Amino acid sequence: MRQVDHFISGGAGGAGSGRTHKIWNPSTGEVQAEVPLGDAALLDRAIAKAKEVQPEWAATNPQRRARVMFEFKRLVEAHKQELAELLSSEHGKVVDDAHGDVQRGLEVIEYACGIPQALKGEYTNGAGPGIDVYSMRQPLGIGAGITPFNFPAMIPMWMFGMAIAAGNAFILKPSERDPSVPVRLAELFLEAGAPEGLLQVVHGDKEMVDAILDHRDIAAISFVGSSDIAQYIYSRGVDNGKRVQAFGGAKNHGIVMPDADLDQVVNDLAGAAFGSAGERCMALPVVVPVGEDTADKLREKLIPAINALRVGVSNDPEAHYGPVVTPEHKARVEGWIDTAEKEGAEVVIDGRGFTLQGHEDGFFVGPTLLDRVTTDMESYKEEIFGPVLQIVRAKDFEEAVRLPSEHQYGNGVAIFTRNGHAAREFAHRVNVGMVGINVPIPVPVSYHSFGGWKRSGFGDIDQYGQEGLRFWTKTKKVTQRWPDGGGDGSNAFVIPTMG
Ligand code: NAD
Repeated sequence: MRQVDHFISGGAGGAGSGRTHKIWNPSTGEVQAEVPLGDAALLDRAIAKAKEVQPEWAATNPQRRARVMFEFKRLVEAHKQELAELLSSEHGKVVDDAHGDVQRGLEVIEYACGIPQALKGEYTNGAGPGIDVYSMRQPLGIGAGITPFNFPAMIPMWMFGMAIAAGNAFILKPSERDPSVPVRLAELFLEAGAPEGLLQVVHGDKEMVDAILDHRDIAAISFVGSSDIAQYIYSRGVDNGKRVQAFGGAKNHGIVMPDADLDQVVNDLAGAAFGSAGERCMALPVVVPVGEDTADKLREKLIPAINALRVGVSNDPEAHYGPVVTPEHKARVEGWIDTAEKEGAEVVIDGRGFTLQGHEDGFFVGPTLLDRVTTDMESYKEEIFGPVLQIVRAKDFEEAVRLPSEHQYGNGVAIFTRNGHAAREFAHRVNVGMVGINVPIPVPVSYHSFGGWKRSGFGDIDQYGQEGLRFWTKTKKVTQRWPDGGGDGSNAFVIPTMG
């Protein structure tokens, strides 16, 4: 059985707690590898190494730090196919989609290549008589990232790219369900010229996460995962005096106005609702047609489009999407379809009990369409995270703005329309962090920033871009004067002002 090890001090890290976690091949339903679950003692070893190397890294000029990022980018590009195949084999997303997972992370690395420019501080010459004020961005020391299973390349790169470029050492605790790609990334980072111990990977579950939350040498924690855990991470981390950003679950709505191009909408929705088997925090699992007429026309077009979707093993180049990540998750998604049916939703297309010929033990869920879903249903309120699209009919624009605004999650939302005024009004008013206008999955590019609202995001600073840099640095403000020795005769007992 293949073993995936921790990556500490530039090499394999040993056992940790002695407990292990199995890594499935979701397409076949077989266990393909094991990962050791770490404990506090293992984390201590990683931290000791990080403390040793971080000061020198922080003192390395930003241009040299950027060169490591450039080389890392080159190496990841050279190994992209290998990374995508490995990712796909543990996660279950199709290989093309796994390429996207790597690419969206690499784009943050590209941004981090510009760290000398991005880190420049502010300077005011002559803020008072003979007085200058300037600011500098200093790294925090050791940062940690705790990441979900659904983007095992992109989300770690969002975090460690920015944190390390800014001068921090980084400890990554990836999802125990698909931990191989994070380790490969750390190996490539070392090969790119980073010192041993700058980027380390510790595996584990709650035991390791708690050790991270309580470790006094970790200054900041970035978390992405489900909302209850995000809230827990946020509270416990902040209680321990750390800087924490914790991003949670989602239930993104796609509003379809009566004037929308329905063929385009159906095409966009099929990809956004079912791509990656719906296991994306920026998936679009709820569609809100405005008006009964729009709803009926949309439903009519959705049915054949969904029936035409091809579900396949993750390395089938023809497949639109592959299996979900674990047998437990398959049971959970099917359980939500049961719940929706009991709650009175109409099961228009039923993906329960789906099996793929020749791969009967794989964790496949067929595409599912639910209509007449209402806001009082648990299956509407909660995240399903599977290939399930729910139609919630809105009577007018006002209701369409209200639905996502009042939902507990506020990650992303999209509006499909040809009416610029309606789109502008919607973007302005909706209480959600990321908005797409005729764009179904509005994940902002790497030089903007990413972050949802309400139960999709705890803390107040976004991921990557300038926001990411703010998160991984602290700003020092310096006020200086170089008196000529004569004294300026001011009253030192009065709070100084600049006159
Ligand atoms: P998860 O919350 O189960 O796990 C995330 C991380 O937390 C993992 O590293 C896991 O080991 C750890 N963890 C799990 N249980 C824990 C516990 N009890 N205590 C401490 N740590 C624990 O999430 P997941 O299933 O891996 O990922 C899917 C979830 O992530 C979905 O809810 C999805 O919406 C969300 N997500 C959000 C974003 C975003 O940017 N908002 C992005 C991707 C995924």
